[in-house]
Amino acid sequence: MNEIDPRIRVHVGDITKLAADAIVNAANTSLLGGGGVDGAIHRAAGPELLAECRTLNGCKVGDAKLTKGYRLPARYVIHTVGPVWQGGGKGEAELLASCYRRSLELAAAKDCRTVAFPAISTGVYRYPKDQATQIAVGTVSAFISHDAVPETVIFCCFDQQTAELYQQALLRLAGA
Ligand code: ADP
Repeated sequence: MNEIDPRIRVHVGDITKLAADAIVNAANTSLLGGGGVDGAIHRAAGPELLAECRTLNGCKVGDAKLTKGYRLPARYVIHTVGPVWQGGGKGEAELLASCYRRSLELAAAKDCRTVAFPAISTGVYRYPKDQATQIAVGTVSAFISHDAVPETVIFCCFDQQTAELYQQALLRLAGA
């Protein structure tokens, strides 16, 4: 929990355990599962999730698609596809920001009060964590400043070190 914006929280743990209205999946363009957080979400949600994903015809980088959460505590999963880091000159920053915006738009359309994000693109897609964190915090903060829904956004970090990056980015944003 940070004291800067009560609508943004930083949590350390496994996103598949969160009873948020929606959790966001860092998927790939096929939407047919993968490693990392994607694999964990599919394992926890059960095979019905993959069956629904098969009907979606994939997803473009920077875009997002919504499914039910099946056996997850979360009601919905929002699958977004982050950019693969290629040095920063291939529009990665704008594509990553778009992942956060599109996910929040879908969450708002379903009236989700709480949404949890993993650190999109910072695993096998190799986006530098400090830069990805700035984009995550800046984009979410801008979105919720003009939208009442979602009420609460949780940045779910797999480890304490990542959580500290989020806390620092939130402080910087607040001008502290
Ligand atoms: P990408 O392909 O977008 O890089 P990854 O799944 O490889 O996605 O990694 C994204 C981030 O999710 C990484 O920072 C990784 O540590 C984190 N992560 C992996 N599993 C989980 C989980 N179960 N809950 C929350 N975060 C996770």
